[in-house]
Amino acid sequence: MATFRERALAVASSRSSGRFCVEQGPISTYFGQNVFTVETMRKYLPAKAFTAVLEARQNGLKIERAIADEIASGMKTWAMERGATHFTHLFQPLTGATAEKHEAFVVPGDNGIAMEQFRGAALVQQEPDASSFPSGGLRNTFEARGYTAWDSTSPVFVLDGTLCIPSVFVSYNGEALDMKLPSLRSIHSIDKAATRVAAYFDPSVTSVKVNIGLEQEYFLVDEALYNSRPDLQLCGRTVIGHTSAKDQQLEDHYFGAIPSRVIAFMKDFETEAYKLGIPLHTRHNEVAPGQFECAPIFSEITQAIDQNMLLMIVMQKVAEKHELKVILHEKPFNGINGSGKHCNWSLCTDGGVNLLSPGKTADGKLRFLSFYSCVLKALAEHNHLLMASVCSLGNTWRLGGNEAPPAILSVFSGSTLAKVFEAILKMESVDWESGAKSISIVGSIPEIILDNTDRNRTSPFAFTGNRFEFRALGSSANPASATFVLNSIVSDSLSLFADKVDKLLADGEEKEKAILTVIREFLEAARPIMFEGNGYSREWQEESARRGLRSVGNAAEAFHAFQEDSSVKVLTSTGVLSKGEIEARVEVMEETFVKKLQIEARVMGDICLNHIIPAAISYQNVLARNLKACSDIFGDEAPSLSKAAAKSFREISTLVNSLSDGITDLVETRKKANRVENMSERAIRYSTEVMQRMSKVREAADRLEMLVDDACWPLPKYRELLSL
Ligand code: ADP
Ligand code: MG
Repeated sequence: MATFRERALAVASSRSSGRFCVEQGPISTYFGQNVFTVETMRKYLPAKAFTAVLEARQNGLKIERAIADEIASGMKTWAMERGATHFTHLFQPLTGATAEKHEAFVVPGDNGIAMEQFRGAALVQQEPDASSFPSGGLRNTFEARGYTAWDSTSPVFVLDGTLCIPSVFVSYNGEALDMKLPSLRSIHSIDKAATRVAAYFDPSVTSVKVNIGLEQEYFLVDEALYNSRPDLQLCGRTVIGHTSAKDQQLEDHYFGAIPSRVIAFMKDFETEAYKLGIPLHTRHNEVAPGQFECAPIFSEITQAIDQNMLLMIVMQKVAEKHELKVILHEKPFNGINGSGKHCNWSLCTDGGVNLLSPGKTADGKLRFLSFYSCVLKALAEHNHLLMASVCSLGNTWRLGGNEAPPAILSVFSGSTLAKVFEAILKMESVDWESGAKSISIVGSIPEIILDNTDRNRTSPFAFTGNRFEFRALGSSANPASATFVLNSIVSDSLSLFADKVDKLLADGEEKEKAILTVIREFLEAARPIMFEGNGYSREWQEESARRGLRSVGNAAEAFHAFQEDSSVKVLTSTGVLSKGEIEARVEVMEETFVKKLQIEARVMGDICLNHIIPAAISYQNVLARNLKACSDIFGDEAPSLSKAAAKSFREISTLVNSLSDGITDLVETRKKANRVENMSERAIRYSTEVMQRMSKVREAADRLEMLVDDACWPLPKYRELLSL
């Protein structure tokens, strides 16, 4: 009888050629058709309601109940025309995923007749019985109410017959239980601070927004193969598996021709994404076999984050039709690249000026340097916090390995800018030749650095011409965690910048000189995180330690960065998180870390005991029969004739025993760790003792994979999983 693996392989190979994909015609004809855009709103809402939504979006004004009823009614009409029967608030709880609870529009009327109804109250607020979401103690279970409230800055849309309403998730007392609320707060904070600084250069600036572009990496695996790997199914990654003889050494997959089966999937999910208004722009093969990337054109941050969360859902839904599984985990396969979510981040004024773009004029360049130095200063001070914001169990397996960014933060500016900074730093604070020299340095920044930035792929935070690219985010993560921290620390630094400049101006300093003085001070403070070299090198590890930069190699330890005084100060003073919310978040992160690792360790034990050891032993039986037959037939000659079989038998015995002992040890270690009451301590135990045991077990299992007859190996191997 064929093994499970053989059957799965047969199924997978039968569909390795291209699949159907629905051709849709020009994208512009259906782009955004499932979104309640401003244009659609204009058609479906009475004038007063339309204005109310726009004002709520722009100025955060509250929408009155009566108006909300009108908005809801228009939305319902539109959504029903698009086939919607239900609505849901779509929120982003601390699990990192999205959550939804659908409710039907239908209500029973008189005489058994039903009718559709959607009230303003339901649009504005929903009260899901959300007591099972992690809250880190912010909600007592007896007071388990959590509310979702419509975020009117993000448009509603229809997905699979449901009207989805982007929402924040808050506790009864208004504390953030999600990723969205801190994100909105951080946008508000950086808007205020950045506007202050931007106004030195253009007093007409009234607001500054954050733009981000998120590059999404992912793996694709055939569904049949995925279903025969319990680890992929339950953990999203392989907990055992020997590397393939050929994986990414030749880098022949990177930017290679996209396999036909994959392109069919890509076209289909892109179509769905376009209908939802997600402006996908690029698609390509990534470095690892089976790995791909897509990226939309950047947009305003709330939209970009909401769309990224939606994109991850859409990709997975569409993949089902293609009998594929999208793997969003940060490190699904050992030994080859993991997946990230590069976050391209910039600031833009209401007049459309990119504040991270070195302008044409000396004034524009000074503005650029002001913002740039504020980002650097923020990172120098809070680099550990920023790195902690991307920490998770999944990212632990990725950071610092195979071309993933190092687990230490540094900023790459490119040689041109680095030279400019050096020149500015070398100037004596008093002997500025009345500013002339400094201005000429500022003026010498080339207009388009974009083309000059030598793209340093080893830096977790690189300047790429008119934006920063933060590359340490995990592929499955809600990007809000990293961006609300980034917005918060930069906001703080911009406020400080403005305070300092204002003080100098009040003391009678000339504007340009005042600004340059603070730029210099900030650049000086930022020296430790500026690094232009190879972030993967051993020298950098030593050098970064000398500079006092901390690694987030251990996520369980890194989470505590949120609780350090400087972090609490910056997050609370910018209004992004309260002290209580920080505590709660750390607890949730630790608990999630422990639970996920516990599942991984259990799955590992299960696979070894139920799949690998039995396979190894049955192969040993084959070897034993061979050895016996050899000795029966050849007598004294047998040992030399059956040397290979005997060697295999011995090696397998040793490995099976060490695997079995390793599992026992792992279970014991886990049990002991589970008895530790304090969650922080338990997480540390898991991150050290449990993880160490897991890698020992894995080593034995992976070596067995090389020794046991391929025909009786129970799980699809890397070379099979990674070929599409
Ligand atoms: P690469 O892989 O070469 O870094 P991609 O084209 O895959 O580049 O992705 C770059 C991302 O950066 C896109 O989402 C793009 O829209 C975004 N981007 C470009 N300019 C800006 C900007 N000023 N601010 C934020 N994001 C930007
Ligand atoms: Mg890219």
